[in-house]
Amino acid sequence: MRSTYRLGRVAGIEVGLNWSVLGLLALLMWTLATGIFPTTNPGLGDNTHFAMAVVASLGFFASILLHELGHALQARREGMQIEGITLWLFGGVARFAGMFPSAGAEFRIAAAGPAVSALLAGGFVGAALVPGIPSAVDGVSSWLGFINLALLIFNLIPALPLDGGRMLRAALWARSGDLTKATVRAAGTGRFLAMGLIGLGVVMIVMGDGFSGIWLAFIGWFVLQAAGAEARYVQGPGPGAMRVRDMMTTDPLTTSPGATLEEVAALGRDGDRYDAYPVTEDGRVLGLLPLRALQQVPRDEWAHRRAGEFTLEGPDAPAVTIEDTLAGALAALQAAPVQSALVLDGDRLAGLLRVADIEDALLPGTGRAPTPASGG
Ligand SMILES: [Zn+2]
Repeated sequence: MRSTYRLGRVAGIEVGLNWSVLGLLALLMWTLATGIFPTTNPGLGDNTHFAMAVVASLGFFASILLHELGHALQARREGMQIEGITLWLFGGVARFAGMFPSAGAEFRIAAAGPAVSALLAGGFVGAALVPGIPSAVDGVSSWLGFINLALLIFNLIPALPLDGGRMLRAALWARSGDLTKATVRAAGTGRFLAMGLIGLGVVMIVMGDGFSGIWLAFIGWFVLQAAGAEARYVQGPGPGAMRVRDMMTTDPLTTSPGATLEEVAALGRDGDRYDAYPVTEDGRVLGLLPLRALQQVPRDEWAHRRAGEFTLEGPDAPAVTIEDTLAGALAALQAAPVQSALVLDGDRLAGLLRVADIEDALLPGTGRAPTPASGG
């Protein structure tokens, strides 16, 4: 995602921030400082209300991050690869690579986030009940307790893509053994919920509460899109009819011919399954850099050897288009020196197709984890 900034790593898991969070943070601080805290804690000055709003807003995002870390750490315990956590407008999304190993694993991963929210809600409410604490601390702690409780309840609604929907799907999946049917049913409740939210939002707009109404309808629209995407994901046509654009990695890591091998090595992160990086210069696609170049060149030469020396160009670099079928792309890759192909849209780089991605899709009887594999 281009609009995501890397914040850093927590417990070895990469955390990113979508630009939309900054807008929400500002809106939340303003609402808390001018509306909520002056009501719940009157008698404190404007500056105190503002300071409380800053602490509470940051605490809110920390709570969402901890919720997502709950999912991610449980997923790691279940042996899944974690691509990272992104915080955005509606909370957070933990992204996993590959498929859920079992219904039980999906259930435990889905339940781990709400479990964290429940602990946080209990902790903050408990802290607010401590006798004699300053009014400002009480106000912030009460609000964080309330918001974590709200997050907990919202996420437990049994509608995909919410955590409760994932738990429902896992339970249906365990009972029937059919992931597709389980997903379609859980996504159905997701759509039903979404329509309800949108309807309620419209009613609120008509009744004059435009701000809350638009917000509610917007969340409904998001749930509707996500539920549809989950259902389509498992119901999609078989791999034979699938096209490159369904399976490629969009926005892959790339390098340039002038980059040193040192810089190329620094691109790779844990969990990335690249065996080659697209090489581009000024928007033009030049070829593919096989990562085995890094093994062939002694480490002390990495600082002055350039990616351009090792780049596969022309017919040596496998290339497909977004409209090619997966079967055709796989055939093209069979004789190739690397396990990845450039995906071209005209002469623009549209993505990277990796054999590992295709193999995941072709494994019979299993569903890849629909992406993103966790809602907020
Ligand atoms: Zn969650």
